[in-house]
Amino acid sequence: MGINASIDTAVPASLFPLFADLRGRAVLVVGGGDVARRKVAALLETGADITVAASVLDRGLREWVERGRLHHREGDFEPAWLDGVMLVVAASHDRAPNRVVAEAARTRGIFVNVVDDTEASTFHIPASVRRGRLQVAVSSGGAAPVLARRVREKLEAELDDSLGVLTELLARERARIRRRFPQAGKRRHFFERLLGGDLPRLLCEGDEASAKLAFECALNEPDATRRRGSVALVGAGPGDPGLLTLKALRALQDADVILHDRLVGPDILELARRDAERISVGKRVGEGHDATQARIHALMLQHARAGKRVVRLQGGDPLVFGRGGEELDFLRAHGVAHEVIPGITAAIAGAAAAGVPLTDRRCARSVTLLSPRGRTDVDGEALAAPGQTLAIYMGVGELDALSHLLIASGRGADTPCVLIENASLPQQRTLAGTLGDLPALAREHDVHAPALLIVGEVAAHAQRAMHTGRCRGETASIAHAA
Ligand code: SAH
Repeated sequence: MGINASIDTAVPASLFPLFADLRGRAVLVVGGGDVARRKVAALLETGADITVAASVLDRGLREWVERGRLHHREGDFEPAWLDGVMLVVAASHDRAPNRVVAEAARTRGIFVNVVDDTEASTFHIPASVRRGRLQVAVSSGGAAPVLARRVREKLEAELDDSLGVLTELLARERARIRRRFPQAGKRRHFFERLLGGDLPRLLCEGDEASAKLAFECALNEPDATRRRGSVALVGAGPGDPGLLTLKALRALQDADVILHDRLVGPDILELARRDAERISVGKRVGEGHDATQARIHALMLQHARAGKRVVRLQGGDPLVFGRGGEELDFLRAHGVAHEVIPGITAAIAGAAAAGVPLTDRRCARSVTLLSPRGRTDVDGEALAAPGQTLAIYMGVGELDALSHLLIASGRGADTPCVLIENASLPQQRTLAGTLGDLPALAREHDVHAPALLIVGEVAAHAQRAMHTGRCRGETASIAHAA
């Protein structure tokens, strides 16, 4: 007896994923509209021998036919058109003619995809992400194409462009690798070492020369390819995980060790590789700045020297009122491989939150980022100069002293200000007022750190923005009587 070939259509099929080589193979696309055009566009990249069948073709399809990239068949579909065809895509706008094509293909044992008709299809076209020759395809078996597309978008964000270059490099060197490691087991070890080493990161950083060197080194001195550790100084942005850069996200997903500030919230740490070691390196009670910094330096060095990929994660941007400058000096001095991945700093996030520009050709030609924290030598006069915006990173307790200093230096008590607490986070609040009344206002509304103060004519826009209700979060706005 043969195998029971009856198909139970009530059970969802487990689809067999397949990457087909269609070069020179006959493929028929039925339909001449935009849906057909999109399918043809994807098929053209495969080098298939494509025929479109439709009485009327849209402009894009017509152009391809005129340039000899496609054949065109006019008239009503006949099953004989399927002779010698390997794949069929039924992509006309109507379900009934698509089903006729599908039935004819099915009878002849030819794979057919019917657009938006899972039941009639014998193959599906997945949502896919491409990096050169490397492809990832996602399918929900027709159950939820939008979900599959969302997964695809996630992958799109996660897979670095350099993966294409990496694939190409391995393809080019394939013969040499085979000669060097004829035994499959040894070859696999070589690939594991190579891909777990510096090569992918170097390509990601666009340093093809060093990548080539790392490859040669791995090929010729397989024992010397122990991974070199590295440190990335990464900006985590103001708090909303959506404001991380793609590069920051990828660094977090590659990290072995994460040294993070207190300001970096759990939502962001959650995006990191699950088994990365997370170490909070915020200032400890009773510990001075120098001691904290020495501890961070020691941890960076210890883990990098052990061959780990270290991410030093700081709120906002690492080079704006962070410890990035000192850390860069330290890494350079100790010859540790490193890079900086910038983040959205609080001034930028605060301006966006309050709906105010930091510069505006009508009233602010420059912006000064300032952290007067505990310092008495702030040059008040320079800050009082007109036509500039001040974005002040500060402790809320300093608001009084700051306001007095600026007023005493000549900045009017009626200068518009906006204070943004927890910019970009769900609990974000903005408080608009003037240099004169803001300290009292902040006390009244019990503002806490982290908060950023924007001072200058631009802040007048904040009041307007808040009156139109454009800001999210609780908003306390005082219209100042001029
Ligand atoms: N490197 C960080 C700044 C660190 S200093 C950056 O580039 O943003 C810490 C100060 O930044 C806080 O006291 C506060 O003034 C400001 N800050 C950081 N995150 C903030 C946020 N989400 N909302 C408002 N201010 C913030």
